[in-house]
Amino acid sequence: MEKGKLLYEGKAKKIYETDNPEQLIVHYKDDATAFDGKKKGKIKSKGKYNLEISNIFFMLLEDNDVKTHLIRQISETDLLVKKVNIIPIEVVLRNVAAGSLADRLGLEEGTELNRPILEYYYKSDELGDPLINRYHISERGLSTEGQLKLLDILGFKINNILKDYLEERDIKLIDFKLEFGVDSNDNILLADEISPDTCRFWDMKTDKKLDKDRFRRDLGGVVEAYQEILK
Ligand code: ADP
Ligand code: UDP
Repeated sequence: MEKGKLLYEGKAKKIYETDNPEQLIVHYKDDATAFDGKKKGKIKSKGKYNLEISNIFFMLLEDNDVKTHLIRQISETDLLVKKVNIIPIEVVLRNVAAGSLADRLGLEEGTELNRPILEYYYKSDELGDPLINRYHISERGLSTEGQLKLLDILGFKINNILKDYLEERDIKLIDFKLEFGVDSNDNILLADEISPDTCRFWDMKTDKKLDKDRFRRDLGGVVEAYQEILK
């Protein structure tokens, strides 16, 4: 499968057309950004690690009847996927308070939540991805009520699957972000990626951070953390 026209270059990936209008090639870059793109850098081999890590999670989810955009890997850093219309809502699932939730609720980072929390953010670089609720989603027509109900069900289901899988490998799933899209048959598919760029992973025994917070907060050992998660 050959790369066609570059359709979009994002902060972490490039999206190419293919000769099949229903399929895209996603190229994973080594570029890293944080704080709405204000902090920029490169993480050596990040593209390769994120693609592999994300594939492992997507295949695990497929095995558990979650439909995803995954078709097949075509090189170390290139992935063939089903093209979807991305629903412009970032669905965030949280098991432990960290990042913006810790700030918003005045919780100490690392506080176990009584039950998982699901949040929606409006996927808009221009607006800085603000936190939104069902009324905002309806007002802006970002999804239908039916789609949103499915996003909730899928969000909690994916959290259960990933949390259990990672727990068995001594990793705590603190929080993560999901994106969904609609394919040409009106199916809702999990799209984008699940990787240390989009999740918080802590070592179960030491609470060591094994994700992009090492880059965001200048903690060092960024590449090693991504390698550890892949392992
Ligand atoms: P950003 O847009 O936030 O800078 P990326 O660099 O990761 O992020 O760019 C990847 C883009 O591709 C995102 O906008 C994402 O929503 C989109 N995308 C991911 N999977 C698919 C897919 N299967 N079909 C269409 N678009 C997708
Ligand atoms: N996240 C993401 N993309 C975003 C915003 C958040 O992948 O544009 C992920 C982030 O890596 C974390 C979770 O969503 O795993 C919750 O992030 P939070 O709201 O705490 O924001 P942050 O502290 O990262 O700004």
